[in-house]
Amino acid sequence: MSALPSRLRVILIVALILLGLLLSMYWAGRFAEQRAWAERSQEARGQLELYAQAIHTQVERFRSVPALLALDSDIQALLASPADQRLRKQLNRRLEQQNQAAGSSVLYLLDRSGETIAASNWRDWSSFVGNNYAFRPYFRDALERDSGRYFAVGVTTGIPGYFLSSSVKNATGEVLGVLVVKLELEDMQRDWVSQPGILLIADSLDIVILTNRPAWRFRHLRPLSDEVRSRLVDARRYAEQTLQPLYSEQLQRIDEHSERRQVEGPDGRHDYLWQRLELPAEDWTLHLLLEPQSVIASVRSYRLAAAGVWMTLAFLLLYLAQRRKTRRVEQRSRSELEHLVAERTRELHTAQDELVHAARMAALGQMSAALAHEINQPLTALRMQLASLRLLLDNGREDEVRKGLGHVEGLLERMAALTGHLKTFARKSPAGLRQRLRLTDVLEQALQLLAPRIRSEQVEVFRQVPNEAEVSGDAIRLEQVLINLLHNALDAMTERPQRRLRIVCQRNGNSWQLSVADNGGGIAAEHLDRVFEPFFTTKAVGQGLGLGLAVSYGIVRDFGGSLEAHNDGQGAVFTLTLPAAEADAAE
Ligand code: ADP
Repeated sequence: MSALPSRLRVILIVALILLGLLLSMYWAGRFAEQRAWAERSQEARGQLELYAQAIHTQVERFRSVPALLALDSDIQALLASPADQRLRKQLNRRLEQQNQAAGSSVLYLLDRSGETIAASNWRDWSSFVGNNYAFRPYFRDALERDSGRYFAVGVTTGIPGYFLSSSVKNATGEVLGVLVVKLELEDMQRDWVSQPGILLIADSLDIVILTNRPAWRFRHLRPLSDEVRSRLVDARRYAEQTLQPLYSEQLQRIDEHSERRQVEGPDGRHDYLWQRLELPAEDWTLHLLLEPQSVIASVRSYRLAAAGVWMTLAFLLLYLAQRRKTRRVEQRSRSELEHLVAERTRELHTAQDELVHAARMAALGQMSAALAHEINQPLTALRMQLASLRLLLDNGREDEVRKGLGHVEGLLERMAALTGHLKTFARKSPAGLRQRLRLTDVLEQALQLLAPRIRSEQVEVFRQVPNEAEVSGDAIRLEQVLINLLHNALDAMTERPQRRLRIVCQRNGNSWQLSVADNGGGIAAEHLDRVFEPFFTTKAVGQGLGLGLAVSYGIVRDFGGSLEAHNDGQGAVFTLTLPAAEADAAE
């Protein structure tokens, strides 16, 4: 990947992160959904079993009622002689009491033709007495199979109910009539209203007969064929106009009994977790529809959690990768830098060495040329002088020989002065020779040496050097510097009618500044930069070597000080700056 251009890499990384985000959210969602559905399905099953139990208990309580009553001799007597009005009245009351005691809705007796001859509701406007229920399957079932059960809307009352029937037989086993108990189950239905989810109890035709949501009652869960429909109408089981379809579509099957369905119900189109439980005793099926709100919430929170975890992970990885990269770059640039520094230092040393070498060669060349010139002159003069001396000697002119020898002496002195200077120039101060020097003493010494000349040239000397002005160094060499400066000043003033020498010393920070000023007219501007160069001189041949200031400059620098030249209105001013000796420094 490192070979890719950085822009493309960024796009690729972002795309990967997004892809990872989507995938993690998708999988987390799926996982959460499956889990939540399984949990909800489990819950729904538990709930359905409770409902089934409640229904079963309720119905079981009444199942034996008609069978037990069928054994009653009064009932058998009435069926034997249906015209007996007294017996009829008596039985009506009996059934009324029994019904009340049992808690059923209606208890009634049908004769063999299906006509009601006695009923617990004989007093009501909706009395069943006189009505014929031969068309009801529960009647036929009881005749044929001793008992029957049937859910239907009451023909007389219009109230739906569960009819449980049992045949009444005489001693010989002949069927005399049928005893029926009707359970309306409306109370039970009302109790369920507050329960979560939609409970549907469907009969064998998948028509909702009981529910905790009234609007869902009499919906049929599967299409009814025309034949079934007409049979229902004939049996007057349900009012035809109340029968409406409930469309639904399976979205996902969760397990054997539950699935996700989209339902077009009375409250509009919704997704439900649809759970089923058979109730074989009644041939009914219980359905529980739960809205998937909690599932959606759980899926959402799982997705969010997955997104959070994924993003944290992705950023952590990115951060680590970036840090590794930065470290690598840093390490590389550091080692590159170190390498570069080492190389440059090496180059610099080489260049320096070459420079020093070149400077040395140049200085050597320059010096040898100047030296050859300087020494050649007196040597030539000496040779000529010696030749003329020999002639003079041959001619016996001794006086002149003596004078000539004086010249020779002068020339030799000049050569000695030259080598003297060179020796000073070459000499390094012996290591550790650092005397504590009082400037005024050193200056006095120098002036003493020059006293004959000062006196003969009538030079006015002004000096102001404080006693406490002390520096550390080598007295002889410092004296040499001062002599050079004074010498030059005297030389510069020879032509002046009045010669004034001014030596002043003052403190400047940690140093002492001693200046030697004359009124000799100063140094020409173009020479100012060159006066410290070796062999630079403006004096006539034989007068100067051009080494005095160069030597002095070197000495002062050895002492850690500096020597500068400038002009004031009268003449040249040489300023010597030297570090002040510490008050407690050892001598
Ligand atoms: P030299 O005295 O042998 O010429 P120096 O190095 O002492 O050598 O001086 C170099 C030159 O600096 C002199 O030739 C002169 O031109 C100039 N110089 C030095 N001191 C003074 C001064 N006080 N006034 C004017 N010129 C000076």
